Amino acid sequence: MQNNIKEDLHFFNELINELIDDELKNPVADAIPTNELNEKFDLELRSSPAIAEDFKKELKNLVLNTPKSSSKLFFNQLFGGRHSKAILGDLLAVMLNNSMATYKIAGPQVAVEKEIIKQVNNLIGYPQGCGGTFPTGGSMSNFMSLVMARDKINGEIRNKGMHGKLVAYTSENSHYSIAKNAAFTGLGRDNIRYVESDEHGRINVEAFKNQVETDILNGFTPFYINATAGTTVLGAFDSVVDLAPICKKHNIWLHLDGAFGGSVIFSEKHKHLVEGIELTDSFCFNAHKTLGAPLSASVIVVRDNNYLYNSFNNEASYLYQTDDENYNLGQTSFECGRRNNALKFWTLWKAIGTDGIAKIVDYEFHLADTARNYVKENTDYILYSFDDSLSICFNYKDYDPQDLCTKLYQHNKLMVGFGHFHENTFVRLVTINGENSEKDILNFFKIMEEFVCDNSDLIKRIQ
Ligand SMILES: *Cc1c(COP(=O)(O)O)cnc(C)c1O
Repeated sequence: MQNNIKEDLHFFNELINELIDDELKNPVADAIPTNELNEKFDLELRSSPAIAEDFKKELKNLVLNTPKSSSKLFFNQLFGGRHSKAILGDLLAVMLNNSMATYKIAGPQVAVEKEIIKQVNNLIGYPQGCGGTFPTGGSMSNFMSLVMARDKINGEIRNKGMHGKLVAYTSENSHYSIAKNAAFTGLGRDNIRYVESDEHGRINVEAFKNQVETDILNGFTPFYINATAGTTVLGAFDSVVDLAPICKKHNIWLHLDGAFGGSVIFSEKHKHLVEGIELTDSFCFNAHKTLGAPLSASVIVVRDNNYLYNSFNNEASYLYQTDDENYNLGQTSFECGRRNNALKFWTLWKAIGTDGIAKIVDYEFHLADTARNYVKENTDYILYSFDDSLSICFNYKDYDPQDLCTKLYQHNKLMVGFGHFHENTFVRLVTINGENSEKDILNFFKIMEEFVCDNSDLIKRIQ
């Protein structure tokens, strides 16, 4: 088969049109048991080329049988939907295929990225000298913040390796990347203190303060806290205003992980949830989670860009062959060759404006209210999550949430997951797809209730 871009893009259009129609008719792809994969697909790679017709047929088979993460019945992850303006930008980024390391290879795309960073910094109110970059995701954003904090407290570690008794803090409900990042940075998983949360899933500020003081007494050096704006399960917002003075007093880097809920910075109505955000040292959010941009579109901003530069620059004369340092973004990124993840966010933002983004955020909170009210008003449900959250955590009658989610998936009804908080396990519905309507959200409950009604013998009960 020929290497023919026009022909393949033509086929791409054909295939995508089919996918879009299919998503409406079959919003949940058939669950395929792993032992049936061989039967269902011809994935084997052979020494001989495929025949054109077979190749197309197999590709279509693969595309139409992949979980449909943009459909109206997908609530399984913290992303969903697809905004056409962001898709447009991302497809162009694929075609342009720049690397964001230098101005010489990315040209005006560098300015696209810098404009987003500047606007985000304006929204949160960081002072002159701030900066940022587009890491591969929230996990990488958290990693970069930890590296900066480590290098701030001790500039020798980057050359000589870790020594001393550094300790970092996070919430017991924080994202699992914090533990991995502790391992990667040389801090060590055991040197993370998981601070208990209050009854709403927010860091207990008093407990944090006490832990810091105890650690100092015991000869440790506290240097970093990862607070969360929208915890992965409950969607809780740690109190930045309350944490900031403690961090300031003890010279602790305050990172706010807004991978899930950080897009509230766009909303007049909801940005109070991150009150004090301008006091943080770094902040990240994922436009691919709540704003309908495709994976991944993650931004980290830092109060003082010198830290980003100090931790991530390196000499590379084969790479940096033009001058203007500020436009050679490779000096402040983790990667060398770095995909252009800014363009899709820029096309979205440019097309709908900051007001349009705020509307998406507000609407998702409105959908959350719709879902929460439904649960609250119905005695067959118990609610485990709280107001001001895009997560609605509940149990229905006495059905085992884990088994219920699995059976809904196996029967191709709904994609939804479960979560835990303290001793409870529950279904976690997330209203992160701004393309859903109130009706779609109520339809979620309807489909679930009908499924339970028809299959009640099949689903385990809570013991
Ligand atoms: C999703 C999530 C992350 C990880 O983001 P990725 O882009 O998936 O790496 C980090 N923190 C929180 C709170 C999240 O919800």
